[in-house]
Amino acid sequence: MAEILKGNVVAAQIKEKMKQDIEELAKVGKVPTLGIVRLGNNPDDISYEKSIIKNCNAMGINSKVFEKELNLTTEELIGLMKELNEDNTISGVLLFRPLPKHIDEARVRAALSPDKDVDCMHPLNLAKIFEGDLTGFAPCTPKAAMEILLYNNVELEGKNVVVVNRSMVLGKPLVMMLLEKNATVTICHSRTKNLHEITNKADVVVTALGKAKFFDKKYFNENSICIDVGVSLDSEGNLSGDIDYQSVSEMVSMITPVPGGVGAVTTSLLLSQVVEACKRN
Ligand code: NAP
Repeated sequence: MAEILKGNVVAAQIKEKMKQDIEELAKVGKVPTLGIVRLGNNPDDISYEKSIIKNCNAMGINSKVFEKELNLTTEELIGLMKELNEDNTISGVLLFRPLPKHIDEARVRAALSPDKDVDCMHPLNLAKIFEGDLTGFAPCTPKAAMEILLYNNVELEGKNVVVVNRSMVLGKPLVMMLLEKNATVTICHSRTKNLHEITNKADVVVTALGKAKFFDKKYFNENSICIDVGVSLDSEGNLSGDIDYQSVSEMVSMITPVPGGVGAVTTSLLLSQVVEACKRN
């Protein structure tokens, strides 16, 4: 049976540090505040928003929702980003994406001040990840995967790590973070041939497809360390990771559960970046 790498213990450590920072900020009359920008009423966005607000409240972080119509124009959204840049009561901004197709997302991302970009959507913060510069804000999900590995003392130097995802928010920045730790990294995607032959030779496999229970036992070996970033609903409507947890956890060496794994750490990291933005601004 695998060792279960739970996210809550990692999140608790992040929250403890955050609590101290929030107390220090309170002494100088500052309260970290997250501005949440949402277009339309997508149920997934609303449920994520509720969860973030709940987590903010629990930590003593303020949150302010800027709810806009789905037909907002690119110029109007850029205008809002600029207003938030100037607003001293907002420490950091989270913009729900994907945006409607008519919006020029690249221009909107670039309009937000990098200093308030707690979700790492500004090209400058992304570029810093690729340069190994730690002064920017990192994308929270790949950072959460890294935090889980580091918390559990998984040695990465010289290890073969396979990342199954090549998106800009996940796979690509994660590869850079793994290279910083001297791992040997392979990135796979939907055009990869014989995926299981690549993943089952790896020391660490990070899956981020969003396809419930896609990875069965044949993708792993008994020493595999599995970090499951994917979140989706299985055929019975239950929240599931990309890995068939039930069967795979009987075989591998370490595995993150879904829910309760990477996602639990992601939200804490987002809030810690809001606190960091408040400290810097
Ligand atoms: P995405 O852009 O759709 O990326 C999915 C990746 O999976 C792509 O690189 C895609 O390859 C690859 N893929 C799809 N089917 C495949 C297959 N059959 N074999 C191999 N690779 C395949 O999604 P994303 O925004 O990166 O998010 C991915 C997942 O992470 C989603 O489930 C999302 O819910 C989850 N997520 C979790 C958290 C968290 O905190 N836990 C946060 C954010 C997102 P191509 O590039 O070739 O299309």
